[in-house]
Amino acid sequence: MGSRLGVAQALIEDPETDPPERHPRFRIVVIPERCKECGLCIHVCPKNVLEKGTKANTRGYRYPVPARPEDCVGCRLCEFNCPDFAIYVVPAR
Ligand code: SF4
Ligand code: SF4
Repeated sequence: MGSRLGVAQALIEDPETDPPERHPRFRIVVIPERCKECGLCIHVCPKNVLEKGTKANTRGYRYPVPARPEDCVGCRLCEFNCPDFAIYVVPAR
């Protein structure tokens, strides 16, 4: 029983101990059509999660992408500082 329990425990993912890159704690949602490429969200992020993307919306603005989502701490500074409500952050699960 003890060994079976050990196997079961090994299969359970533990966000406290598993490598953080496997467990982004937050989901960063960008609404491309609202973005005007001001870069504020990228600038205010304390964890350098966001980068200017390579794709543009229909107005020609390149919207940000979460390049390092595993580093996000959920502070929502990107969301609060976006003047166009083009980005928001929610718990990943
Ligand atoms: S919630 Fe905070 S850490 Fe996450 S992407 Fe936005 S500014 Fe960066
Ligand atoms: S702050 Fe908003 S409008 Fe500015 S680049 Fe970020 S998502 Fe786009």
